[in-house]
Amino acid sequence: MVYRCSICNTVYPSDTYAYRCECGGLFDVEYEHSTDLSVSESWSLWRYRSVLPPFPDELVDAISMGEGATPLMALGATVKGKGEYYMPTLSFKDRGAVMLALHMASIGVKRCAIDSSGNGATAVAAYSARAGIACDVFVPAHTSEKKVAQIEAYGAKVHLIEGPREASGAAVKAFVEEHGVYYASHIYNPLFFEGTKTYLFEIREQMGGNLPDILLIPVGNGTLLTGVALALGEMAISSPPLLVAVQASACAPLAAAFNERGASHWTTTLAEGIAIAEPARMHLLLSLMREFNGIFVEVNESEIRQAHEELAHRGVFIELTSAANWAGYVKLIRENPQLKEKTAVLPLCGAGLKSLGSFS
Ligand SMILES: *Cc1c(COP(=O)(O)O)cnc(C)c1O
Ligand SMILES: [Zn+2]
Repeated sequence: MVYRCSICNTVYPSDTYAYRCECGGLFDVEYEHSTDLSVSESWSLWRYRSVLPPFPDELVDAISMGEGATPLMALGATVKGKGEYYMPTLSFKDRGAVMLALHMASIGVKRCAIDSSGNGATAVAAYSARAGIACDVFVPAHTSEKKVAQIEAYGAKVHLIEGPREASGAAVKAFVEEHGVYYASHIYNPLFFEGTKTYLFEIREQMGGNLPDILLIPVGNGTLLTGVALALGEMAISSPPLLVAVQASACAPLAAAFNERGASHWTTTLAEGIAIAEPARMHLLLSLMREFNGIFVEVNESEIRQAHEELAHRGVFIELTSAANWAGYVKLIRENPQLKEKTAVLPLCGAGLKSLGSFS
């Protein structure tokens, strides 16, 4: 397995501690893909082992918590939600975090650090604990208390950083540099996307070998979107689903750039998990949205709040950030009524208890 720079093509050994190329380019990961594409017996994302990086069995058995294999539930006649809040740390980030932890264990990492708006760090903290790796976490000081408490419960050391999300990114980079620890970034490390790609492999199997007509994907740093795009590429689909990227209108830098609107001043939003003003993979995300002919939907704060309540009243209790996805679907079909007949799947990314206390 090697890393390759997405800009200058330089190859790095995968045990590098560099999180990007010297030229500034981000890494892709390359490994020998299995020719056997059958699913295994595992009732977890390890069913799709044949399309995942080759980690030793003993390590997978020791570190996995049965992540993946989340249910699809009806939210309407043609639309389903994928229950990513059933995950071990209560968000889809476990798909990527288990890959990162396995990789760190494989190359002998003893200590790592990560920055996130909450769920990414929570997942990495839990899976690092599984792998016996010490973990320092950098999150914005305004992160939901519940998320911080969960991170601390896993034994990680939390650094609360004042200022916008970007300040946590700067702080972790300085820390990594100073202490020589591994940067277990869900944003930069390409192994994370190998995990998030299983989201789509599962949907395809759950839908009897088909994909829905429409895939709604929330986008902050684009870790799920990148995984889905990778999966679409590997599945070699002739007519891919309509990709609908969801952002909060209070912080929608990708939607603005995609639709060629001028710069805006972004503010905080109830959807803290997708409030990323300067996504590191901005250019990659925009080019893959163009490649797949996708569209953006932006949802405002009252739409997010209303969507949250609507889903909770149907027994689906998710965190506020995740409600943006349902709000995005509602808006999409309001503005394009013909799409109502199409099958759609949206992720229910994180559990409601994570943002309990921030609803009213
Ligand atoms: C991480 C996350 C997202 C998607 O964010 P990306 O940064 O694009 O991966 C959406 N919802 C929740 C709850 C999340 O934790
Ligand atoms: Zn490079």
